[in-house]
Amino acid sequence: TGKRPYNFSAGPAAMPEAVLQRAAAEMLDWQGSGMSVMEMSHRGKEFGSICTQAEADLRMLLAIPSNFHILFMQGGGLGENAIVPLNLSRGKTADFVITGSWSSKSHKEAQRYCAARVAASNADDQHTKLPDPATWQLSKDASYVHVCSNETINGIEFQQLPDLAALGSSAPLVIDFSSHVASRSVDWSRVSLAFGGAQKNLGPAGLTIVVVRDDLLGHALEICPSAFNYKTVADNHSMYNTPPTWGIYMAGLTFKWLLEQTEDSHTGVAAMEQRNIAKAKLLYDFIDGSDFYANRIDPGCRSRMNVPFFLADEGRNEAFLAGAREAGLLQLKGHKSVGGMRASIYNAMPLAGVQALVAYMREFERSHA
Ligand code: PMP
Repeated sequence: TGKRPYNFSAGPAAMPEAVLQRAAAEMLDWQGSGMSVMEMSHRGKEFGSICTQAEADLRMLLAIPSNFHILFMQGGGLGENAIVPLNLSRGKTADFVITGSWSSKSHKEAQRYCAARVAASNADDQHTKLPDPATWQLSKDASYVHVCSNETINGIEFQQLPDLAALGSSAPLVIDFSSHVASRSVDWSRVSLAFGGAQKNLGPAGLTIVVVRDDLLGHALEICPSAFNYKTVADNHSMYNTPPTWGIYMAGLTFKWLLEQTEDSHTGVAAMEQRNIAKAKLLYDFIDGSDFYANRIDPGCRSRMNVPFFLADEGRNEAFLAGAREAGLLQLKGHKSVGGMRASIYNAMPLAGVQALVAYMREFERSHA
């Protein structure tokens, strides 16, 4: 078997090859059970052990405190845009910080369930810099404050989560960490609820991870579907309805893989963070050093995971993408709302993949400048 191409998809995205191989090896017979994981009852002891282990490993990986529940749900990031206000808003005000496409969508969807306000927005800056938390107009009585901690499309990331208490707010902070979960540590002293689809950094599409502080459970609106009521899900250990069993299994293999990673003297997420810093620096430094390519995001809040970039001559976009495919560099086309290119370099992308991308970009520039 030859070397696989490097896949820069924004999601569903590349997974660690070791995880795919392990899943392939266990596909027909999971650990002597005679069943594929896809064929198991979610209430049987086999799947029970898979699910319990995955939850424990995620808790260790992200250092999730014991007063937070881990929920394995369905519905994706967009589902949570409704599920969060259904559970947290109590029909009152919620504050949104608009930093790009995904937080805008969250704000719009929440308007169906509560008085969703915009506390700050970087729309006037074309989502290229983060609004300074000191300027946020937070409501006195907000039921929660929503932030997208990494904007996948725009390529903008909070390098530090806001400290709402220091800003004079006692509202819980909700973060959409879909596209950088497990790429860096989370400061749980500042976060009350985090949600994310698994299909970028953790596993296949279909699994949604929710980490929620226990005092936020039990306040859902009457109209909240039972299967999306966090208290119901938590009370039933994510088994109120059939959870996405295959997604939980694959994410569990990824958690094990992550826990095994070491970089310098770091392990787990800390190791990934070191590696992700190095990968992002390599790519941004190359782009900044070239007049042929450009990234428009304020250097203080550039995403380590999603790197949008533009060719100075956009007429060369098709040639760039075709050459990249030939060089074994897949799915570099930018999101249609932004244009240009986007390299998503999640945990599963090795440094060698970013080195190969930079080598290709340098050669393309040399032969087309
Ligand atoms: N939030 C963020 C930050 C995302 O990147 C995405 C998916 N690209 C979503 C939400 C939407 O997730 P889903 O497609 O799983 O509903």
